[in-house]
Amino acid sequence: MKPVSLRTRLTIFYSLILTVILVGFGLLSYHFLAVLLERTLAQELDDRVIALRGYLQYRDGSLVLDFDPNDPDEAYFVHTATRYYQAFDLQDGSLVVESRDTELLGIRPTSEEVATLARNSRPSDVETSGGIIRFHNSVFQSGPYRFLIRVGISIEPVSAALDQYLRVLLLLIPASVFLAGFGGWEMARRALRPAQELAAAARRIDIERLNERLPLRGTSDELDQMAEAFNYTLARLEAAVAEMKQFTASISHELRTPLTALRGEAEVALLEARSVEDYRRVLGSQLEEFDRLSKIINQLLTLARAEAGEIRLAVADVDLSSLVGSLADQMEPVASSRNIQLAADTGPGITVRGDASWLERVILNLMDNAFKFTPHGGEVQVTLTANAGQVILCVKDTGVGIPAEALPHIFERFYRAEPSRSKEVEGAGLGLALAKWIVDQHQGRIEVESHPGKGSSFCVLLPALDSGARRLNIS
Ligand code: ADP
Repeated sequence: MKPVSLRTRLTIFYSLILTVILVGFGLLSYHFLAVLLERTLAQELDDRVIALRGYLQYRDGSLVLDFDPNDPDEAYFVHTATRYYQAFDLQDGSLVVESRDTELLGIRPTSEEVATLARNSRPSDVETSGGIIRFHNSVFQSGPYRFLIRVGISIEPVSAALDQYLRVLLLLIPASVFLAGFGGWEMARRALRPAQELAAAARRIDIERLNERLPLRGTSDELDQMAEAFNYTLARLEAAVAEMKQFTASISHELRTPLTALRGEAEVALLEARSVEDYRRVLGSQLEEFDRLSKIINQLLTLARAEAGEIRLAVADVDLSSLVGSLADQMEPVASSRNIQLAADTGPGITVRGDASWLERVILNLMDNAFKFTPHGGEVQVTLTANAGQVILCVKDTGVGIPAEALPHIFERFYRAEPSRSKEVEGAGLGLALAKWIVDQHQGRIEVESHPGKGSSFCVLLPALDSGARRLNIS
């Protein structure tokens, strides 16, 4: 089924509300009009009866209306008021006098009915061929004689007025609803047109045209706010896609280099028959390339899992002093093979709360970088201090340093600064990105200071154990 458009829904809603209001108003006004007309009629009947009774007299054995026929007002009143008029003798219920119209209409209550009407002198409606007539019933007494006096009034004008009013309502309500519905439909079209234009503009934007933005009308209304929010999302999407493209390009490049080297070596090796020694050498070199490839892939996988929130840190108290000490011992052979002097000052028993194996990765990465980027004869210094609720681990080298413009980027994935990039230095630019993620997870931060040609210093600042690190809830 085709979904009902917002415009149709708005119009239906609007028309329904209006119908309910108009029908409610119609019913109420009809009711009040009916009550008002009824009251007026009852009042009129009461007035007539009171006035007529003033003329009633029992004279010479019969009941007469004693009025001055020469007075036109009086004559007119009596003539009108007695159009439906009857009087019954309450002794036997017999009719004493009646008007011509009641006679013609054949209104003739039985003697029992007369007695009942006299007892219960409330107005009573009588249905006749000339419409409903409301009779006022009252008892008139003159000496020992008692009569039931019935004065009637036709309620047809009231019914006719109410019918007329109902007809007007039945015509006006649907017409108003129709007109208002049409107006609402048109209004909804106008109100929703900018939204449709926005939707059309949004549909035109695809992944290739993420730099396009939705037009703002400058009205600061809800639609403008929606367009602004959409533009903001587009900007973020554009940045994310650009980053993704950059990432894909970097990853392809990083993977292609060792693969090309591997293929080249294999091709050269196969060009002619070689000695077992030669093959050993080629295979050994290929193993190195394989190691490099699997290191990159492992680092990438770790980063991807870290960003997807799949890595859970096993938090415990970590004796950083002994960890850094043993890692420095472990790296000593690497340092001496490069003729680099390694000095480690790890302080006694400095402990932090965290995951030992992940912290080890950070320290190893910083030390590995320090060795990689420090020429022969240089120095690498590892210091661990605890100070003002913070544990500070610094790895300082006297290496090539990092150019100032590269400093803000070194923690980005695949970023490698000059001159390390151009040199034959191993690495894919993933180590510091991972180190930063690990330090972030420990609610710490990593700072770098570097002077090109003089050396760099990387410091990791972690919360000390007694400064709330116990509350660290790393999962
Ligand atoms: P890589 O695997 O290339 O070492 P990292 O993410 O660890 O990747 O480092 C990113 C870049 O930061 C390096 O390529 C290098 O340009 C720069 N860098 C990191 N540590 C040092 C350092 N101690 N001295 C000079 N440059 C460094």
